[in-house]
Amino acid sequence: MSRTSTDMRFSDRVLDWYARHGRKDLPWQVRQTPYRVWVSEIMLQQTQVATVIPYFERFMQCFPDVKTLALAGQDEVLHYWSGLGYYARARHLQAAARQVLEQHNGHFPEVFDEVAALPGVGRSTAGAILALACGQAHPILDGNVKRVLARYHAVAGWPGQARVQRQLWALAEQHTPAHASAAYTQAVMDLGATVCSRARPRCGDCPLHDGCAARTAARQTDYPSPRPRKTLPVRSVCMLLLCNDAAGVLLEKRPPAGIWGGLWSFPELRAEDVPAVWCRDKLGITAAEIDRWPVMRHTFSHFHLDITPLLLRANDASNSVMEDKGLLWYNLTGTEQRGLAAPVDALLRRLTIQLQQREQHDTNSTLRKTG
Ligand code: SF4
Repeated sequence: MSRTSTDMRFSDRVLDWYARHGRKDLPWQVRQTPYRVWVSEIMLQQTQVATVIPYFERFMQCFPDVKTLALAGQDEVLHYWSGLGYYARARHLQAAARQVLEQHNGHFPEVFDEVAALPGVGRSTAGAILALACGQAHPILDGNVKRVLARYHAVAGWPGQARVQRQLWALAEQHTPAHASAAYTQAVMDLGATVCSRARPRCGDCPLHDGCAARTAARQTDYPSPRPRKTLPVRSVCMLLLCNDAAGVLLEKRPPAGIWGGLWSFPELRAEDVPAVWCRDKLGITAAEIDRWPVMRHTFSHFHLDITPLLLRANDASNSVMEDKGLLWYNLTGTEQRGLAAPVDALLRRLTIQLQQREQHDTNSTLRKTG
């Protein structure tokens, strides 16, 4: 596609701004390889740079190359993803690593169609990986770039609509220069993340100030149009926090696909289940309900989940519960490496604090008696 002089100015202005103000020392910008860029791009989907940095560094220490990631256990990978959310990303990442190992002999591909064919990698991510790591010229269209383009060209409509999506891709292609692809790709993403921000764009600092249609019309925050509003449905669930006398709490491995797929969570009860009866019938454990914590809400992109935590104490720490049945006694005093969803992690921390307080109370009581 041929580019006009105005288009050239767009990319040149963005590149000039990047040379003076862009971020060049992010961890994935050091020793840039397709593998490191790929992992960072997947982590950066839906997640901000500041959040991603410590996760990326820990992940790279544990999985320094595609082969290590491909051969790791899923639990270990999910453990290093715990708290980052959108866990399908981690599962796809590992599936893609295995594909790279099997189909590309462990070498991350450098051909667009092969990269785009990896699980969890779409057109924009494939373009970003090859532009950043290999200097190939491909347009990208992540959330930040969509915002810049929608504002600069006053593109009406929600980017989730196919028509708007097509229009934005055409503009992204038009503006992507044939030269300096790595710098331009990083620059246009950075511009959206740091200057053309969602709520408070700093147009006075923006290299696209002249010629930006949204700024000229003083309608910056009208673009891009938000997703059409719909009320999120609410689902409710009771989670069983079954504790034993050995500081263990029962966790269950979730099915590989779906919400929190492959992560460890608390067993979930239906509204009609009686917790103690459920423990006896399903686990062969006698248990008594000792507390019911207030409902906590966790919001997914498409529904709210209202969680009622039910605290039960097992009268016998039965060994009939085995990991090969997808169950384990998670030790609250240890350093187990398990993939945990954020609300499960929060409940485990609360249980740990409660356990520590009880132990402290018991110690104090003993001291009073012996003193
Ligand atoms: S001038 Fe303002 S609205 Fe337009 S691209 Fe720059 S920061 Fe965004």
